[in-house]
Amino acid sequence: MRKPVIAGNWKMFKLLNEAVETVLALKPLVANANHCEVVIAPVFTVLKTISDRLEGSNIKLAAQDCAIQNDFGAHTGEVAPVMLKDAGCSHVIVGHSERRQFYGETDESVNWKSMAALAAELTAIVCVGEHLAERESGNAEDVVRTQLEGGLSGLTANDLERIIIAYEPVWAIGTGKTATPEQAQEMHGFIRNCIGNTHGENAAEGMRILYGGSVKPDNISTLMSQPDVDGALVGGASLEAESFAKIVNYR
Ligand code: PEP
Repeated sequence: MRKPVIAGNWKMFKLLNEAVETVLALKPLVANANHCEVVIAPVFTVLKTISDRLEGSNIKLAAQDCAIQNDFGAHTGEVAPVMLKDAGCSHVIVGHSERRQFYGETDESVNWKSMAALAAELTAIVCVGEHLAERESGNAEDVVRTQLEGGLSGLTANDLERIIIAYEPVWAIGTGKTATPEQAQEMHGFIRNCIGNTHGENAAEGMRILYGGSVKPDNISTLMSQPDVDGALVGGASLEAESFAKIVNYR
């Protein structure tokens, strides 16, 4: 049985006070959510404080990105996965489409970051997803397969136990246009198949595959009713404690 994961990506929102306020409001609202893992991903600067505030709660902490390696040294502006671990993170998002689109993230850097995250004993949430033009030209599956093969290259089936895939069609992120449950299921099934081909049936069966793209309280249940949808990566609707809690408590 795959335990669902509901993860909130706070992107570049919330100063420290607001982040603490949201977390304090969220904690009691999701305290009984034993059916899924709850993860939030605030900005780097608030991670340690939020980690302290989360002590004793069932909410796990993720960073939104990490450096490609863990060697301390002359890497101005980078944050190593071991430092994220040190700040209280258990997860890190890698390869978000905003990083691929605007900050030069490639399948190769996603691969390095995933390996570095695993070396620091973090779980990596590896994002994949096609642009609208790629879907409309019938290339969505090829794009996602290439991202998966590149991002997971060199990782063993064992390594994949600490990898979560987030399928986030770029045309659905922040647009209010959610993939239909059938579109999500179709791609999630395809992703599971790809992992089966590269890493074997056990790795494929155990892999949690999250859907991301305009997930809201009113569409989470139908998405979660699909057999290969194992959770959600939520942007906008994770910023308010009440709406994120409704998504977490989808059933
Ligand atoms: C995201 O940022 O990963 C995301 C899915 O955003 P939104 O839920 O706002 O579409």
